[in-house]
Formats: sequence, C-alpha cells, structure tokens
Amino acid sequence: MRPLLAAAVFVCLLLLLGGAGEAAGSLHRITGIDSHAVEVDGRAAQRIEITVKKAGLHYALSERYHADNQLLVELEDVALDEHLPHEIALDGAVLQRLVVIPRENHRAALRIYAGHDLRSADAYRMYTVPGTGREKNTERLVIEIFADGGDALSKAVMGHTVVIDPGHGGSDTGAIGPSGACEKDVALAVSLRTCDLLTKAGAHVVMTRTDDVDVAYAGSSASRELQARVDAAAAHGEAELFLSVHCNSFSNPDAHGMETYYYPKTDADERFATLLNEELAAAGGLYNRGVKYARFYVLKHSDIPASLAELGFISNPEEEQMLTDPAYQEILAQALFRAIARYFEE
Ligand SMILES: [Zn+2]
Repeated sequence: MRPLLAAAVFVCLLLLLGGAGEAAGSLHRITGIDSHAVEVDGRAAQRIEITVKKAGLHYALSERYHADNQLLVELEDVALDEHLPHEIALDGAVLQRLVVIPRENHRAALRIYAGHDLRSADAYRMYTVPGTGREKNTERLVIEIFADGGDALSKAVMGHTVVIDPGHGGSDTGAIGPSGACEKDVALAVSLRTCDLLTKAGAHVVMTRTDDVDVAYAGSSASRELQARVDAAAAHGEAELFLSVHCNSFSNPDAHGMETYYYPKTDADERFATLLNEELAAAGGLYNRGVKYARFYVLKHSDIPASLAELGFISNPEEEQMLTDPAYQEILAQALFRAIARYFEE
C-alpha cells in the first residue's frame, strides 16, 4: 500500500510541474524581444533585450558569419513563445531587423541585420542580466550594437600577422626576482594576454612559444635558441611585425623602469619601438627609461620590423610584485595591443 501511495504522489507532482509530457521545465522560454536606443560609455548603441523564462540560457555567437553586417546568435534548449513574432523591424539606422529562426531539437537562432560592418571585436556586446525578486528565475539576454561599428584600433589590426616572442622559457628561466618570480613566466603571461587581444580583434598571431618550453631545445646555446625564435617568425612568410617580451634585471635592486629596444634594419623598427614605449609609459605607470638602440639577436636577425620590450625590473621588489599581478599583466597586454594597432593604423 505504501509504495503505491508514494508513486501516486509522484505522478501528481509531475503533473503540477508540467513535466508529464516533454521536459518543458528544462527549456528556456523566450517570451519577448525589445529594442531601444541607449548610450553605453558615451557611445551610441541600439540595445536588443530578449526576455527568457528560466535563467542560465546557453547562447553563442555563430562562427558561421554569412555577411559582415550580420550577427547570428545560436540558442540552445529554448522554447519560443507562441506570441513571439518571427521578424522584428528595428530602428532602421543602426539596426535593420531581427529574424527569429526556429531550429530542431529545441534550438533557435537570432539573425540581426545591421547597417554597418560588425566584424570588429568591439562592434557589439552580448551578456545576460539575471531577474530579481519574483522574477528570479528569468533573465534577459542583452545584445548592444554600437553605431560607430567598433573601435578603430581593433579594426587596424584586423587581418595582419604579428609574431610574439615571450622571452626565455623551459630550461632558461630568464632573470629571477627577489621573491622568486621568473622572467620567463611573466613574459609568457603578458604575451598570451596580448595574443588573446589581437586574436579577438581579427589579427593572426604567431607565438614562438605558448608554454614553458625552450624554443630550440633544453640546454641549447643562446644563439641557437634565439635563432629558433627568428625562424619561427620567418616560417610565416606573411608575418609583418615581431615583438619580444622580457623583464629587466640588475644587481642593484633599486634599478627600475621600462624601456623598449630596436635595431634599425628597416625604416619601421624605431617607429614600432617608439609606439611600444609611448603606450607602456601611458599605461604601466613605471619610470620611462626610453627607446634604445641595441644589437640584440632577435632584432638584428628577423627580416621584419621588430622591437624588444623590457616591461620592468623583476630584480626590483616593487616592480616584481607588479609584474606578477594578473591585473597589471592585463594592463601591459592592452598597452602592447594598442602599440601594435597604432603601428598598422598610422
Ligand atoms: Zn630577458
């Protein structure tokens, strides 16, 4: 008797929750789509808000761009409200229309037609906002499309190929700070962040290493190791710019500041080193030791304009702390990104 009663209660619960047939409770129901003009960080934008019942929507920008002035957003585990229109006319200036495309297996897509190119990483933003209070189990998917089409610097690097060379690696630690921080790790962390920013903006990045390894082989001579880095760049015939990332070190722990180096084998080496120096000085907050001439191996032997940046002194306790701080590493990466973008823009 008892098990039977339990089973009956279970069935009632299922009915109450609406879970008798298909698992409707597990789907995110899209109940509304709205659009209006907004200003975000001083930039005019058109905001699209999609109201979703049940938080935690899975959404992704489709890799399959059909045209430069469209966004295709793929949604998973969704149910479309029956009152939801299939096509919505937008403001007509920044955006033209939004089309809701139902797909099989509880998937759907939103295709947004804009009046301008959306390829820049900063041409739009997409995020969700959770509901509060009684609306706790709802959320809004927000898509903001900027009227200016995105950041000019991001557009400047699009389609260009850049080599980033994180100094040292593997058996070669580079300089070691008073608290034990290794130059090879700082160089790699900042280089990977810079690579990420460039890739998001549509550049091709060739990394001489993406891990804690020797580029030639463990224990190789310094010149063989450095030639391996030059070769990595040369293997990509389309590479246009070479950036080597390092930290400085000196026996006196008071030595401090940032500097950039060039070897004038082309017309552009000094210009690149100057742009890097300007951006690092503006962003990093360290003493500026200037733009310097040097016969460094990678600068001299690479075919393309090259510069070596010494981000700061890892031998200085204060700068060692800064160089190992992920937030500061991101600031440095953004500065390197801006310098590279300005190189292609100017
Ligand atoms: Zn170094």
